[in-house]
Amino acid sequence: MSYVFPPAAPVSVPVAGSAARFPVRRVYCVGRNYADHAAEMGADTREPPFFFSKPADALVPGGGDVAYPPATANLQHEVELVVALGRGGANIPPAAALDCVFGYAVGFDLTRRDLQSRAKDKGHPWDMGKGFDQGGPIGAIVPVASSGHPARGAVWLKVNGELRQNGDLAQMSWKVAEVIANLSQYVELAPGDLIFTGTPAGVSTVQRGDVLEGGVDGVGELKIRLV
Ligand code: MN
Repeated sequence: MSYVFPPAAPVSVPVAGSAARFPVRRVYCVGRNYADHAAEMGADTREPPFFFSKPADALVPGGGDVAYPPATANLQHEVELVVALGRGGANIPPAAALDCVFGYAVGFDLTRRDLQSRAKDKGHPWDMGKGFDQGGPIGAIVPVASSGHPARGAVWLKVNGELRQNGDLAQMSWKVAEVIANLSQYVELAPGDLIFTGTPAGVSTVQRGDVLEGGVDGVGELKIRLV
């Protein structure tokens, strides 16, 4: 095989306790999956799950320095449980969905809230509010053998040491198995797919120089600095 220019390097995420990395295919995200965050966004809390995407190369594996993105005056954090799929399929029954999970990670769904709000108002796509460069810091993936399938436990985020988000996985409107099953009705899922499962309340605006630390009980922690 020859290419007209060198193809981009594959995107991968470290795996806790392993030298081998998790190769990423697609990155899906669930909108408004915690009732208290849906409320702070002014939305109905019982609507069915809906999905958007980030480009795989928007991930920042392992965190660290993240460039403050252009074209926004309102960058916000959303700390989330991320599901990493080791198997895929279409129309996956909820009872079989957890068998597809390779492991879990902590991710930040960084959001240019001003661009997203403008898009919502106009009925435009959210892509430029959500899918920008370095908009998806993600920590190491913890295999299910170590993490189990966490269904409760703190989902938290601090900015410069001050607690901003402090939710619990038990507050998820749509549980991990339901999210996988529902998403697989729209697209065929495959090994390497990641799903950011939504954020609890407490999202807030951050600035250059801020340090963001977040975690999910039983899964790990993630730290970034906006530069
Ligand atoms: Mn989110």
